Amino acid sequence: MDIQSKVDLKGREVALRLAYVMAKVEYDYNRHEPCLVCKEKYMHHIDGLPCESDDKIKEKAPYGEPVDAKWYKRKVEKVKPPL
Ligand SMILES: [Zn+2]
Repeated sequence: MDIQSKVDLKGREVALRLAYVMAKVEYDYNRHEPCLVCKEKYMHHIDGLPCESDDKIKEKAPYGEPVDAKWYKRKVEKVKPPL
């Protein structure tokens, strides 16, 4: 592997690491953010956080049960008309 490929690989590793950490910090606001590895939204990952490396794609959350339904609850509450 040449030096450029090694640098690219390391760069990607760092980017994925950073995306994972940021995903924790902004957990309540990033449910629709697509994962850099598998392109699925964070909320469709089993733990609600993006994949951490290219060779370890996370299990998907069960169909129809995105992780962190809080986001939906908040959204529904906002949309709900006043009684
Ligand atoms: Zn993923």
